[in-house]
Order: sequence, then C-alpha cells, then structure tokens
Amino acid sequence: MTLDIEGTKKFHGHSCPGLAIGIRAAEIALREIGPHSADEEVVAIVETDMCGVDAIQYLTGCTFGKGNLIHLDYGKNAFTFIRRSDGKAIRLVLRPQPWGESRPEHNDPVSETQNGTDGFEDAERPRVVRQQRVQEILDLPPDRLFDVQTVTPRIPAKARVRESIRCEVCGEMVMETRARLMGGRKLCIPCFEAGENRL
Ligand SMILES: [Zn+2]
Ligand SMILES: [Zn+2]
Repeated sequence: MTLDIEGTKKFHGHSCPGLAIGIRAAEIALREIGPHSADEEVVAIVETDMCGVDAIQYLTGCTFGKGNLIHLDYGKNAFTFIRRSDGKAIRLVLRPQPWGESRPEHNDPVSETQNGTDGFEDAERPRVVRQQRVQEILDLPPDRLFDVQTVTPRIPAKARVRESIRCEVCGEMVMETRARLMGGRKLCIPCFEAGENRL
C-alpha cells in the first residue's frame, strides 16, 4: 500500500510529528478497516483535535462535513475506526514515548508542534530535530507506535438533515436540535448564553 504522504503534508500545510502519527494511524486503519467509500462506510472517532487528524481525513476519506469524523475532546492521541458493514472496529492509542527517550526535551511531539519555535532562538535546530522525529515515527513498527485494541463501540447514527428555526433574538436560522428555550422563546446558543449572563 502506498500512502500519499506528500499530498497529506500539502493538505496539512507542514510536516510535523503529529501529522506523522496520523499518517501511521491512517495506514493501519486502511489495512484493517478500509477507506471510507460510498459502499463501505467507515467512521473515525478522534480523541484529539491536533495535527494528526488532518492525515486521517486526507488518507481515509472520513471528514467532519460528512459526519463520519467525530471529535471527542479528550486530549488523547487515540483514534477509533469503525466499519459500518460488519461493525469491525479498532482503537489505536499512541504508546507513551514510543520513539525512545534519547532526547527528553523533545519527547512530546504534541507540545512541540503547538509551540512551534517558541523558546528557541536557534530556529534551525528544533526543525531538524522535529524532522528526525517525523522519520522515526514513519519508520517504527505499527505495534511499537500504537496499542491496537479491538473494540465494540456504539455505531453513531448517520447524519440527518434537520429542521431549522429562526432565533427569536438575532433572527438567524439555527438547527432545531441546537435551539434553547428561555421564557418560552426559542433562542440560538449564543443568544441564550448572553441572556443567561444578564440574569
Ligand atoms: Zn502539524
Ligand atoms: Zn440568536
């Protein structure tokens, strides 16, 4: 299987350890579960909103807009892939420091990518170290990188078209399931929260 790694980097905008983690997760998902396609639908549940999710979207075809990419805000490098046709599902959890502990100051790719060059006057050194880390992640055997679990998650319902109503304060249309009731009036969430803060 050849992965479009260059395309993934282009889609994401740069190459970083977080993206490399996502590339490896997508690689395992494509092998074990298959890609998202019209006749074999796949749902991805990601427990992080970091760089790696872009690789999962680009390589597996699971996207936020189609409703088959679900974000749980747990702050974990953990990725679940579910095949609707037979319910097969795997959860991949990044192992703690799978790349070894040789360079303690660079053991956390997540904070590294978030901070960018913050705290470094020498901009070149962290860039080189980061690209070494990217290569290490791309080269590691999958089971050294991830704890691969077979799971039986609840399969999320398919996205439906929902009715919209008009917010009685701002007048903007809002999906009915997101509207809130205040004093018998139907409001959008921002108007509801603004009203709550005035109470
Ligand atoms: Zn990134
Ligand atoms: Zn409103």
